[in-house]
Amino acid sequence: MTTDRTRLTSAARLWAAHNYPYLASALFALRILPGEPGLEMSVDTNWRVYVDSNSLAEVPTDRVGFQLVHLTGHLLRDHAQRAAHIGVSEDDISHWVAAADAEINDDLQDMLRLPPDAVTPNDLNCPDGKFAEEYYEYGSESSQKFRDCGTGAHGHERSWNQEAPNDANKDEGVNVREAEILRRQVASDIVEHHRQVGQIPEGLLRWATMTLDHKVDWRTELGSMLRRGLSETMGAVDYSNSRISRRISISPEIVLPSLRRRVPSIALVLDTSASMTDRMLGLAVTEIKGLLGGVGIQNDAIRVISCDAAAEEAQMVRNVDDLLLKGGGGTDLRVGIGNATKLLPRPELIIVVTDGGTPWPEERLQGIEMFALLIGDNPPQPPNWIHCVRAKGES
Ligand SMILES: [Zn+2]
Repeated sequence: MTTDRTRLTSAARLWAAHNYPYLASALFALRILPGEPGLEMSVDTNWRVYVDSNSLAEVPTDRVGFQLVHLTGHLLRDHAQRAAHIGVSEDDISHWVAAADAEINDDLQDMLRLPPDAVTPNDLNCPDGKFAEEYYEYGSESSQKFRDCGTGAHGHERSWNQEAPNDANKDEGVNVREAEILRRQVASDIVEHHRQVGQIPEGLLRWATMTLDHKVDWRTELGSMLRRGLSETMGAVDYSNSRISRRISISPEIVLPSLRRRVPSIALVLDTSASMTDRMLGLAVTEIKGLLGGVGIQNDAIRVISCDAAAEEAQMVRNVDDLLLKGGGGTDLRVGIGNATKLLPRPELIIVVTDGGTPWPEERLQGIEMFALLIGDNPPQPPNWIHCVRAKGES
C-alpha cells in the first residue's frame, strides 16, 4: 500500500509537473493520504488527495498523473466555494461535478487524450470554453458514470476526509490563506509561461488573468515568500514525498524551530535612484524588517546597502531612517548586489527593493537565494531565478 502511494507522490506527480510545469507549485502542495476503498482518488478543500491504492493498482502512471492535474483544477478554480455560492445541494452534486469537470477537462483535452470516462462539455451538449456555473445551468445530465472528486470539487463533507488542519496538526494540509497564495503563484506562473513559451489552454489563461486581477495585499505575499525562502535556506526542506508540503508551509511557527538552530545571514539592497519614492522605500523596508522580526531575526542581523547609478561604491547603511535618497539617472543594482555578496559573513539571502529598472546579475548566485520586491505599476521582469513579489500601484 505504502509503495503504491509512494508511486503516486513520485512518478505521477513528476509526470504531471513535467507536462504542466506551470502547475508545479500546486501539484507539490498536494498531500497524499489513504482514501475510501473503491474510490480511486478525491480531494478535500485543504488540498489533501485521498487515494485508494488498491483501486489504482493497475492504473498507468500517466492516468494517475492526469487525475492529479484534474483534482488540482478543482482546487485552483475553487469549485467547492463556487458550489456553495450557487447553493449546490447534496442531491445536485453529481450534476455539479460533471459541470465542474467539463470546465477543467475542456482545457486539458487541448494537450492530451482524455481518459474515456472524463466528462467534456460535449457530453453535456454544451460548447467549450464556458464556466462550470453555465454548464450546471444549461448542460444536460451527463450520461457518464458519476465520479465523486471530493469535497474540494463540491464543498460537501465526505466521511473519509481527515480533520481540517488546526494548531495541533498544521502541517496536514493547506489552509484558506495558503490556498489563496498558491492560486496567485500558479496564476503568475501560467502568465509567465504563456509569455515565454505559449501553449497555455485558453480557459486556464483566462482563469490566471482573472485571478491576478484580484488584488491581494503585497505584504501577505512578501511574508509568505520570505518565510518560504528562510525555511529553504535553513535546510528545512525535505523533498521526499510525504513531507513535501513543508516546502510550501508558510506559518511562522513552522519556520521557527529551524531558526532557533541558526540565524541566516541576510542583506537588503535598496534601489535609491530617482524613480523610487521615499515613502514606498520606507514602507518596504519597515515591512521587511517587521516580517523578519516576526520570525525571530533581529534588526542588527540585516545588513542594508543603498545603491543607485551615481554611487561608485555601494554603501552600508546603519540606520534605515538615515537613508539619504539621491537623485540621478538610472540604476545598476549589480554593484549593490555584488557588494552584498562580499559581506562577511556572506549573506545566504539577499532581498532587493527596486522598481525593476536595472540590469541583473547574469547567473544565479552560488549559495544565495535572491528575492525582489518590485515597486510600481509595470516593473520589468527580473531573471527567473529571482523570487519576486510585486507591490503594484503603491509608489
Ligand atoms: Zn473532477
